[in-house]
Amino acid sequence: MDLQIPKYDIIENDQGKAVISPGNYMSVFIKRNGFFARWKEFKSTEIENSLAVDFNYFIYNGLFESLQDLINLISYLGKSEEFFAGDPEFCPFGPEILDIEVSTICHGVNGKPCNFCYKANTGSGENMTIDQFKTILKKVSKSRTLSQLALGVGDIDSNPDLWKMMEFCREINIVPNITINGWNLTDEYAQNLKRLCGAVAVSNYGSDICYNAVQKLTDLGMDQINIHQIVSLESLDQCFQVIKDSKSDSRLSKLNAIVFLMLKPKKRGKTVKRLTSLKKYSELIDFALEQKVRIGFDSCSAISFLRAVRGKPEYKSFVEMAEPCESTLFSTYINVFGEFAPCSFCEGEKGWTEGISVLECDDFLKDVWYNPRVIKFREKLLETTHKEHLSCPVFDLDLVEESEPVPILTGEIT
Ligand code: SF4
Ligand code: SF4
Repeated sequence: MDLQIPKYDIIENDQGKAVISPGNYMSVFIKRNGFFARWKEFKSTEIENSLAVDFNYFIYNGLFESLQDLINLISYLGKSEEFFAGDPEFCPFGPEILDIEVSTICHGVNGKPCNFCYKANTGSGENMTIDQFKTILKKVSKSRTLSQLALGVGDIDSNPDLWKMMEFCREINIVPNITINGWNLTDEYAQNLKRLCGAVAVSNYGSDICYNAVQKLTDLGMDQINIHQIVSLESLDQCFQVIKDSKSDSRLSKLNAIVFLMLKPKKRGKTVKRLTSLKKYSELIDFALEQKVRIGFDSCSAISFLRAVRGKPEYKSFVEMAEPCESTLFSTYINVFGEFAPCSFCEGEKGWTEGISVLECDDFLKDVWYNPRVIKFREKLLETTHKEHLSCPVFDLDLVEESEPVPILTGEIT
């Protein structure tokens, strides 16, 4: 089967990357601060032709000194929003973001694997080798749309090739990001993260371990350090506390944002009580907004977040901010065995008990991105727009008005 993929141009330098295919998909990514924007087309070809020149000029000359510069550029190019049209449904040229699991070995924090770990990681797991990593990355990045990569690890020192993997990412112009549990963050590891990573998230599995890690990284000058905070019924107090601490604990003074992640009912995550009440979730969001704390959300929480802020004067800007699920649309997941699944949570669920081998595929676009199973998943996900915004096609994660328990569903993609 020959793939019919629209034509596109890539403009790239050490400042950033733009993918340009008017009418299909356009994006711009700035490496230094992680800024990313995508849209479908300019509203007229006249604008498109005249602005294409500027676009090249700005990218090539590296005129992005700050995020504001880029926002100014985007609004200059678009004379605010009026010249931009539409959001692309997916990137036809390949993923923008790769979430790649390179180790499943984790002793947890304080030597105790977490009782809510959705991967059920323990001290005896698997590592991806550097050769496997390079093979996968070369295949996934062949179409050159990939800009960002998130490395999935347990212990920071579980995979001896971790730093070489990050170095390889840099060699091929991809910014690696990572989430760590904060445990055993030595000065040497912190320096490596500073040298190689864009954003680092520290999961909050114990405030001192987490906050000390944040401080260590921000003291090195890293400005994209986030805290990942799981939202469950059992962690709700911790969610409020981390907001308070971000205002008062000096270790968090240079924190970028607190990112709230909805607990997934998966593996050991099933043993923890989920938050099901939209009211309680709204109270949390209200508190964060009142405190003027920078917050973010995983894409799995997008609908719940928007329901929580419905009616607020800034609702329109919240809609712009909330990125719903991007699995198979703009992002892709590959596990430690080199197998694709739509996201790390889908892996092993019905319909995805077997992944698609990226290590063994000949052509990532043809064999994976346009694999019939992936197309089917993508269609199912896109069909969920009838629920206000895209919603998880696998787990029932959206919070509802009532505080009645929501059934925990895992559903096959049929
Ligand atoms: S949740 Fe994170 S830190 Fe805890 S056991 Fe799992 S991978 Fe390790
Ligand atoms: S498929 Fe569901 S669990 Fe996976 S990223 Fe999307 S919303 Fe989250």
